[in-house]
Amino acid sequence: MTNPGWYDQGLSHLWLPYTQMKTSPAPLAVARTKGSRITLADGRELVDGIGSWWTAVHGYNHPHIQLAIEEQTARMPHVMLGGLVHEQAARLAARLAAILPGGLTRVFFSDSGSVAVEVAMKMALQYWLNQGVRTRTKFLAFKGGYHGDTFATMAVCDPEEGMHALFRGILAEHPVIDLPRDDETIAAFDTFLESHADQLAAILVEPLVQGAGGMIFHDEKTLKRLRAAADKHGVLLIFDEIFTGFGRTGAMFACQAGEVAPDIMTLGKGLSGGALPLAGTAASQKVFDAFWSDDPQHALMHGPTFMGNALACAAANASLDLFERENRLLAANEIGKAMGRQLGRCLGLPGVKDVRVRGGVGVVELDRIEENAGTLCRRFVDMGVWIRPFRNVVYLTPALTISDDELQKLTGAIVSVLGG
Ligand SMILES: *Cc1c(COP(=O)(O)O)cnc(C)c1O
Repeated sequence: MTNPGWYDQGLSHLWLPYTQMKTSPAPLAVARTKGSRITLADGRELVDGIGSWWTAVHGYNHPHIQLAIEEQTARMPHVMLGGLVHEQAARLAARLAAILPGGLTRVFFSDSGSVAVEVAMKMALQYWLNQGVRTRTKFLAFKGGYHGDTFATMAVCDPEEGMHALFRGILAEHPVIDLPRDDETIAAFDTFLESHADQLAAILVEPLVQGAGGMIFHDEKTLKRLRAAADKHGVLLIFDEIFTGFGRTGAMFACQAGEVAPDIMTLGKGLSGGALPLAGTAASQKVFDAFWSDDPQHALMHGPTFMGNALACAAANASLDLFERENRLLAANEIGKAMGRQLGRCLGLPGVKDVRVRGGVGVVELDRIEENAGTLCRRFVDMGVWIRPFRNVVYLTPALTISDDELQKLTGAIVSVLGG
């Protein structure tokens, strides 16, 4: 199979994500995408099981999103938000405020999830500084968590398991403890807060599903416990919904299943329906009020160059139209039921420790770290599916528009590859 000219000319100049460039299998050349399909340059077609890192919630190239981007391109692809404002960003902020839980009324846009988390952390720190409190400088985060690749966010990822163990000692030190989910971890969590809460700016968690840290689930009770503890100790609560937001867990936002609202929430990934880079940090009135002042020093000191990009906001507005018109949440839950039945066949296969499903997230956990994830990935490609196992999990986060046949092809490939 020959690769196109651009591939041979360009590959030796690209540096790819999380990739040992020397030993990893060469990346596959993609020609185009549509729905849940990726067409390779050599003509092979793959059913996509992961929606380009969980972003393509409506599938690729959705005509409604494409049209919105085209129309916005003709009018104005981008204008700075410093001193100017445009319809797409304003409409998107208002629409998000209307659907976000619990009075998250202000949205600060950025272009990547990591930056959205950085902004959330900065907001939380400055919330205290603006009130003259200089001692609340730490964030309480949880084992198994993932919040981004930049330096502030690496410091709140899982310190042992995460991909950032390398930088230990260079990163800021924040406490990272077990999520309170059984008697022992609840007691440890309570004890930690009793003695350290006065140093905390905020508690930071991915609600219900810790994604990139290993697709680890917890339940609504844990969220309620975090909210109660934050209230008791007067600490802010940040939910990172970059992975879980926009229907992925079967509710628009995962925390709605527990009827728990944070003080600050981060959004990304599915926000623009996967079409363009866009992220956001939403804050409650209480948080915003701490910045509302006659003192210019009390302003939030942040401003990504491309924040509120008009094309990306147009795509996000079109994505919200689709959530209003078509029942994606029902679809996520139906996909979850089907994945539960179909992936359930993996239970009992050698090396399989657990199978779990939450909305549009299906996980087969292995009893070991998969050293040959690249080889597994190639076997999936040979079966016509795009699935990328990492660490000890093989998972599916398909588009919420995937067909029954396509889903069966994905789950069938997992059962077959793990079965030997
Ligand atoms: C992906 C992810 C991020 C980082 O987003 P980027 O756009 O890759 O910077 C942060 N938090 C969570 C929960 C994520 O899944």
